[in-house]
Amino acid sequence: MSADAPGTTVVDVPGSGFGRANLPYGVYSVDGGPRRVASRLGDTVLDLATVLAGRIGDAERLFATSSLNRFMAEGHDRWVEVRAALTEAVGGPVPDAALHPVDAVTLHLPVEFTDYVDFYASEHHAANLGRLFRPDNPEPLLPNWRHLPVSYHGRTATIVESGVDVVRPCGQRRGPDDPAPVFGPSTRLDIEAEMGFIVGTGNAMGTSITPDSADDHLFGAVIFNDWSARDVQAWEYVPLGPHLGKSFASSVSPWVVPMLALTDARCPVPGQDPTPLPHLRMDQPWGLDINLEIEWNGEVVSHPPYRAMYWSPAQMLAHLTSNGAATRSGDIFASGTVSGPEREQRGAFIELTWGGAEPVVVGGVERTFLLDGDIVTIRATAPGPEGDLIDFGEVTTRILPAAC
Ligand code: CA
Repeated sequence: MSADAPGTTVVDVPGSGFGRANLPYGVYSVDGGPRRVASRLGDTVLDLATVLAGRIGDAERLFATSSLNRFMAEGHDRWVEVRAALTEAVGGPVPDAALHPVDAVTLHLPVEFTDYVDFYASEHHAANLGRLFRPDNPEPLLPNWRHLPVSYHGRTATIVESGVDVVRPCGQRRGPDDPAPVFGPSTRLDIEAEMGFIVGTGNAMGTSITPDSADDHLFGAVIFNDWSARDVQAWEYVPLGPHLGKSFASSVSPWVVPMLALTDARCPVPGQDPTPLPHLRMDQPWGLDINLEIEWNGEVVSHPPYRAMYWSPAQMLAHLTSNGAATRSGDIFASGTVSGPEREQRGAFIELTWGGAEPVVVGGVERTFLLDGDIVTIRATAPGPEGDLIDFGEVTTRILPAAC
């Protein structure tokens, strides 16, 4: 920060991925005080009700509140208006009363999540999991995979923010050598590095969102870790899909990067063959050039590239409403594990270690699945305008011992 007029400061952010092209939204508190909506510039947290007072008519109503839901529900024109006002405000001196060092605040879950759907949009991940879960099937992708973005419905009550520990889940499993199912702590606890997309405004029951109108509904994106108990999943998932092997926890990064900040990160998807049916068809299906990084106990073990994803987020949203299902402000859908074609681009440890058969060395020790006390951090960045970087921040989680 540099000194300016008394009581105000121009926030300096040379080289930061949280520069003026990013301006993400989050929720913070100070010393156990009330939760309020904020943005971030460099290492400074900006209280939005204060920064935007006088610039946005009802800044206090929208931002002196404990989640982004009220703001998101106002709709796309409002998101554009607020981002323009915030961009203008941070171009000059900002009231000191609005500024907090990021290390001095507590960041909370940014959204009161309403519904959660998890997709499976990486061809590399789906093919790898097909080979691992169905080794006798010569075709790793199931027949529907190239025709629709495969998904399952998850649990919002256990979506938690970065920094919240995850307790190793207990569950029922039956390994290949078990004569009968057993119940106990998962022995194959894994991560899934994904991006989560937040629905800012939904659609009414009986209507659907087209891929080309998805931009009006998509508010922003977060890093999403879809924790997975592979032993529980493998035993339970046939024929109705994942449930308890996933529903015990999902972790998100605290800053929601607006879709409006990701225009320079848009890129074509790698190619869709066959051409999707009309309800999923787009002239130019867009992906995102987001680079993820997975750190396991302080060592980077993978760099999953989001640009390799087969389905566009716009097609995912269109698909999940194509039957007339309603969505609401605060819904989130995640992309599915982001995996690229190379081993060091795989977004889950079951793929990285090939079902545990090919361990990776972490801290000098051969590792496969997660142990109690392990710490996993997922980071992500995307290109911004004029060579700037858009930083999503990180989601960091520690694994605690099972309670069963
Ligand atoms: Ca997943």
